[in-house]
Amino acid sequence: MSTATSATNLEERAGALARRFAGVFGAEPDGVWCAPGRVNLIGEHTDYNNGFVLPFAIDRSALVAVRLRRPGQDPEADTDVVRLASTYAQKGLGLTRAEFSTGGLEPGLAADWAAYPAGVVYALAQHAGASVPGFDLLLDSTVPVGAGLSSSHAVEVAVIVALNDLLGLGLDRPGMARLTQYAENEFVGAPTGIMDQSASLMGAEGGALFLDCRSLDSEIVPLPLAEHGLSVLVMDTRVEHSHSDGGYSARRQSCERGAAALGAESLREVPADADLSGLDRQTQRRVRHILSENQRVLQVAQKLRDGAVDSIGELLTASHISLRDDFEVSCPELDLAVDAALAAGAMGARMTGGGFGGSAIALVRHDDEDAVRAGVLSAFADKGFREPALFTVLPADGAGHVQLTAPGRQ
Ligand code: ADP
Ligand code: MG
Repeated sequence: MSTATSATNLEERAGALARRFAGVFGAEPDGVWCAPGRVNLIGEHTDYNNGFVLPFAIDRSALVAVRLRRPGQDPEADTDVVRLASTYAQKGLGLTRAEFSTGGLEPGLAADWAAYPAGVVYALAQHAGASVPGFDLLLDSTVPVGAGLSSSHAVEVAVIVALNDLLGLGLDRPGMARLTQYAENEFVGAPTGIMDQSASLMGAEGGALFLDCRSLDSEIVPLPLAEHGLSVLVMDTRVEHSHSDGGYSARRQSCERGAAALGAESLREVPADADLSGLDRQTQRRVRHILSENQRVLQVAQKLRDGAVDSIGELLTASHISLRDDFEVSCPELDLAVDAALAAGAMGARMTGGGFGGSAIALVRHDDEDAVRAGVLSAFADKGFREPALFTVLPADGAGHVQLTAPGRQ
């Protein structure tokens, strides 16, 4: 995808998945689709405030092999059963399986990870008038689960691009982003915004997605990391975050309260230098984060348009400080990852994703990468924290159909 090598890897993974699908479900899949996870470069908690975000799709993705049921060909052709299997297994080896029916689907009728594909089917029925027949689906994802890199949206997006193609729904990418947001909000029950799906759907190799979450206007701005001798190092703290937790909803409510008190429909309509003195102290801090974060996104996007990727570090770090002190969504492990990375020579670092755990990122010169990795690992060991997972990511293309190489078709 992002390089010749990873494109080959993707095709190889897709071919292997298609062959495994045939073994699991007894027939060839109709095709294989891919949806990447994402890293948010900057613009945190701004999406549900109608603001600006700047994520990029990463070279770690969910692949789904899918086969629709066909009347007259399948024993269960007249049923609306969806059979799911994932190579992700928390305990031991083997597949994690699930099943649901597309007919009469209501929130609560599909649990655990089945809620993501089922949520997409539900949103298609509720908001796009699409009636989805039964299908078989095998999932294989390289997006780490629960690390704040949106493994859940990668699953939803892979499912919606597959169904859009297979059923000829003709949905465009912003439309699919909205539908997967409805899936997450109405079916899964997580009050998340639109950033993650948009990054997975509209990302592009070598670029970041500058997205206006009010209009859904988007622009790919260049993020030429390798050309500038830079890496984005992900530091997965392995502290589980959960959007369904109270913290995320509480932040949303604070923002809504702040906007209402300032007489605005959303915080996007509040000027960056608005007088916040009429708000209580806590709401002031929450609002100040959103207003300042929107400005930082605009500044980083402009620097990237200007080819100045090596000068965005300070803005990334300023974002972290604002999330830590004003929005209060960091945690000791995220703060330590950021501080240790900076102390060891990173140009900038911040938590990424909703917070309360998950991952932080550091912008690092290639020459400093080993020192930064070592510094972060030893800081975690000194504190007695669980060892973080460290890996670099590159900006990759958004979701789509994967052309199978010949061996996958055998
Ligand atoms: P993240 O930050 O990774 O999106 P979430 O808690 O939002 O964290 O989503 C993780 C959930 O997504 C998992 O608990 C599981 O239900 C689902 N999921 C993600 N990847 C897979 C996979 N490969 N197989 C099965 N379920 C998955
Ligand atoms: Mg998620």
